[in-house]
Amino acid sequence: MSRVYNFSAGPSMLPETVLKRAAAEMLDCSGSGQSVMEMSHRSKEYEEIIHGAEALLREIMNIPANYKVLFMQGGASSQFAMAPLNLFRKSKRADFVHTGTWSGKAISEAKRYGTARVVASSEDKNFTYIPACDKSLFDPAADYAHITTNNTIEGTLFKTLPDTGNVPLAADMSSNILSQVYDVSRFGLIYAGAQKNIGPAGLTVVIVREDLIGAQLEITPTMFNYKIQAENGSMYNTPPCYAIYIAKLVFELVKSQGGVAAMEALNIKKAGLLYDFLDNSKLFKSPVAPQARSLMNIPFTAPSDDLNNAFVKEAAKAGMVNLKGHRSVGGMRASIYNAMPVEGVQKLVDFMKTFENSHK
Ligand SMILES: *Cc1c(COP(=O)(O)O)cnc(C)c1O
Repeated sequence: MSRVYNFSAGPSMLPETVLKRAAAEMLDCSGSGQSVMEMSHRSKEYEEIIHGAEALLREIMNIPANYKVLFMQGGASSQFAMAPLNLFRKSKRADFVHTGTWSGKAISEAKRYGTARVVASSEDKNFTYIPACDKSLFDPAADYAHITTNNTIEGTLFKTLPDTGNVPLAADMSSNILSQVYDVSRFGLIYAGAQKNIGPAGLTVVIVREDLIGAQLEITPTMFNYKIQAENGSMYNTPPCYAIYIAKLVFELVKSQGGVAAMEALNIKKAGLLYDFLDNSKLFKSPVAPQARSLMNIPFTAPSDDLNNAFVKEAAKAGMVNLKGHRSVGGMRASIYNAMPVEGVQKLVDFMKTFENSHK
């Protein structure tokens, strides 16, 4: 067996120990004589899994008791609709910081249900920085203000959260949840597709402050209603059982490795290896403003498309796959989520050095 270092933006690497454990339990999970995929979601065995997953996530993210944790389906993209459907309680207005492709999609979707206003944007420079977000920009009567904490495609990160006063802050945290410590009480809503730092695609984690749910728009589909999902323990219908089980294994691992703070320290180290190299390279460049650099997604470019293509191809041959950048940015992108070992990043940096020396 030969495993590659997978630098994909998502779905992305999962920790090998989690995959091995899942393999070992594939035919018989905890003496039940069944795979988790075959279990009734109402069984005692499965209840332990979903409750365990929630308890672990609450512990590692230090989620206050007045927040609901929901395990939903449909990816972060479905949350682009669910957030406005559930949070447009009064003015039906929301303020957005527009920092890339994903925030753009969140804005378009919110516009279907109310007023979505862009209060700050980095579109003028192809989303290579995070715009200043003074408190005065935000409408005090908005139902919520929305940010994308980490911009997966553009490789930028909010280093500080905007102060939105009493307006609940909603965050798409798909590509950096569990990668750094966040104070959950700063948010009204956090949502994240699982396929970057949590587990299999499809599963979507929602963390929402209790007082914000239950006043959803009349047209909200039952399955999209946070209140109904909360009242039913994320089991209004059959939940994504297996994906939640893998998420539980990942949460366990994060806890056993020292929690989110330990992940953050490791992520700073991994990203540092790559940024230090980029800052001193004569061939490769980072398009991102230094003060907005993501710890998870690191785009970089060589001087020509021919060199970019050659790099991606040769890296794949050397066991480092999915380094091609997003078409809107070009060049390369290394996504180095929690599950990417330091050795993988070191191998990439070494490969970049060799490539640079042979293409001077
Ligand atoms: C990947 C990603 C999405 C889309 O997630 P889906 O699960 O495919 O809907 C949305 N927002 C961000 C920030 C992402 O990284």
